[in-house]
Amino acid sequence: MFSPTYRFVIVIVWVVVTAFVLPSGSTAQTSQLADWKNELAEAIDGKREFTANIVDQIFSFAELGFQEFETSAYLVELLREHGFTVEEGVAGIPTAWVATWGSGRPKISLGTDIDNIPKASQTPGVACHLPLVEGAPGHGEGHNSGMAVQITAALAVKEIMEREGLGGTIQIWPGVAEELVATKAYYVREGMFEDVDIVLYAHVGNNLSTSWGMTPGTGLISAMFTFEGSAAHAGGAPWRGRSAADAVNLMEVGWNFRREHLRTQHRSHSIVYDGGDQPNVVPSKASIWFYFREKNYPQIRDLFAIGDSIAQGAAMMSGTVLDDVRIIGSAWPGHFNQVIAEAMYENIQRVGLPQWAEDDQRFAQATQREVGTFESGLATELSILRPALTEAQRTAGFADDIGDISWNVPTATLSFPSNIPGLPGHHWANAMAMATPIAHKGATQGAMAQAMTLLDFMVRPELVDQAWDYFENIQNREIQYTPFIRPSDQPVTEMNAEIMEEFREEMRKHYYDSDRYDSYLDQLGVSYPTLRQPDGRCTVGSVSEQGN
Ligand SMILES: [Zn+2]
Repeated sequence: MFSPTYRFVIVIVWVVVTAFVLPSGSTAQTSQLADWKNELAEAIDGKREFTANIVDQIFSFAELGFQEFETSAYLVELLREHGFTVEEGVAGIPTAWVATWGSGRPKISLGTDIDNIPKASQTPGVACHLPLVEGAPGHGEGHNSGMAVQITAALAVKEIMEREGLGGTIQIWPGVAEELVATKAYYVREGMFEDVDIVLYAHVGNNLSTSWGMTPGTGLISAMFTFEGSAAHAGGAPWRGRSAADAVNLMEVGWNFRREHLRTQHRSHSIVYDGGDQPNVVPSKASIWFYFREKNYPQIRDLFAIGDSIAQGAAMMSGTVLDDVRIIGSAWPGHFNQVIAEAMYENIQRVGLPQWAEDDQRFAQATQREVGTFESGLATELSILRPALTEAQRTAGFADDIGDISWNVPTATLSFPSNIPGLPGHHWANAMAMATPIAHKGATQGAMAQAMTLLDFMVRPELVDQAWDYFENIQNREIQYTPFIRPSDQPVTEMNAEIMEEFREEMRKHYYDSDRYDSYLDQLGVSYPTLRQPDGRCTVGSVSEQGN
């Protein structure tokens, strides 16, 4: 981020430079830009197969946070093939990377997540629960589609920039381990956004939309509390042991009593991560993992501090020691930029929703029926660009660590319609559409809107300036970003390694081979859409659900 004075000088230089490239006079500029946007839509329409291939390929890799090795290797190679310079292993995270193309200002950064959900394996195009690999992770959030949007958009804009000799830099990066909200604060700490003018983020949704102001959701600290006791023969000499598992249980019980006396806006949940080894050995080590969610920075800090005091109480009661409190992930509640969102929304209106086929709607409704929600089908009307939410309207519970980036650079998120409305989220049902024509069409439409927005900010320096004005004088007027991660914290890159190791070999058999097949559905032999059989069985070819 540059100082306002430095920024002013940069913008002046840039205005002078772009004046030579774009026809002078604002009307000529506007009509030139409109022509280029039409060209972008046409070019991206012609890249449908390319976009769908990225969606399908990442779907088939289905990797959990910090273990996105296949996904990242594939994307890095793809971007290098298309002229990007890629730095790998950024911020000390093996699967993180930053790709850059172009030179000079503005520098516009495109990011989107790539990881997935435990136990969400699902055969795509089948509207009932049919795992590809039983118990394995799957794209039950839809993070396999964002890179297809961002890369297709970037390449289409790059073609115009090259032909017209336009200056400017495009940066692309992956949201590694977003499901653990565990990397973006480290990206910020690493300085990845220090010379970035704006960030255009993309996330799967079920409409083509964007928003500005505070997000409806929360921010959070996710922390692992590890207790140390002492082992003993649980039958022979239990009085000689001190159980770390007791401390874990006491912390959970203590938290659930305290829950009644917390703000109703808060949300919190935990799992026992390590409960000991076997019952006849008094557990000498045990861990419990909490998510502490609240609306704003000070409340999130307070909630974490309450967790810490309950952990100390649990240690005292059980005669154990609170050995370690490790921050696994964290997220600032997001704040999106009005100027970027308004420009993006104009392009959304220009692009409109995909043309859904009857099969897409039939599949969507069958999926909705399967999870017991309204059978509304896919979105056929664009949602509005709502005004900023008041504090009382911020009632949602989710979080995303894009929040941290949004407090360091003007940022907005494009939500694109690659998934079905009304699904539970973080669930196999959310994977059903994610390698079907629904996901493909949604990603293409998203790429069109994103490409147009990228071009807007590339060639209209005044827009970047206005975005910074909102960022500095409205968003950040009273709030100072302070990361939740402490200087000693490091990314938990070993997370999920064991789970992936357990399933990787079996999953590898299902990797998408785009040289041999037209689509992933084609490779899997799934006829689209496949609905539950009249006799209630969930089956495709020789694969069948065990029981119902
Ligand atoms: Zn997500």
